[in-house]
Amino acid sequence: MRIVLLGPPGVGKGTLAGFLKEKYDLAHISTGDMLREEIKKGSALGLEIKSVITSGALVSDELVTKLVQNKIEHDLDLKKGFMFDGFPRTVTQAVDLDAILAKVGAPLDFVLNLDADFDVLLKRMTGRRVCRKCGALFHTVTKPTLKPGICDLCGGEVYQRPDDNEKTIQARMEVYQQSTEPIINYYAKQNKIKKVDANLEAAEVRLAVAVFFK
Ligand code: ADP
Repeated sequence: MRIVLLGPPGVGKGTLAGFLKEKYDLAHISTGDMLREEIKKGSALGLEIKSVITSGALVSDELVTKLVQNKIEHDLDLKKGFMFDGFPRTVTQAVDLDAILAKVGAPLDFVLNLDADFDVLLKRMTGRRVCRKCGALFHTVTKPTLKPGICDLCGGEVYQRPDDNEKTIQARMEVYQQSTEPIINYYAKQNKIKKVDANLEAAEVRLAVAVFFK
């Protein structure tokens, strides 16, 4: 399967992706993770990306699409399935992704459109904690680490993303509504949207999603 996980920040795309990766052996392509990797390198480009992400705005279409194109053309086993998480985030990115995938003969099968109420998203994001080393996701209330600040899986340091504060979250939600939501219509015209109620707990979301893989 070749799919896109679409939905507002905090809706649970990363959590679901972790599950789908194991269950259906899909490659996980997260542009947020790719951009954070670039920041970690400490390059000039990384610094530029950092200031954009911290403000809650989007990194340029050109840059993100180039990263994804590189990945697809040089670093992805196209015989296997894959899922995009956090990409595309604008209609321009969606159009470009279709073109890139058409060129390699691997068009998208469907788009999971996850949605949840604003208060649910806010709670998920403000409580979100991430392992600096392996990227595992935790939540201070619903999925705390066994030892404070230490990843259960790899022992790495668990931290709060600097863009997971209320002010930046507000900005990210506005950007989502303005720039990303129109993508739903773009894929609806292709008949590729599968709607998922992501107010539910992670296990229930998994069950709801499983029907699309049969
Ligand atoms: P979330 O889904 O929780 O908002 P991500 O890790 O997907 O988090 O993205 C974090 C930030 O990285 C975004 O707010 C944005 O600044 C940048 N980013 C990630 N993916 C893209 C993209 N496809 N286009 C532009 N900017 C992106």
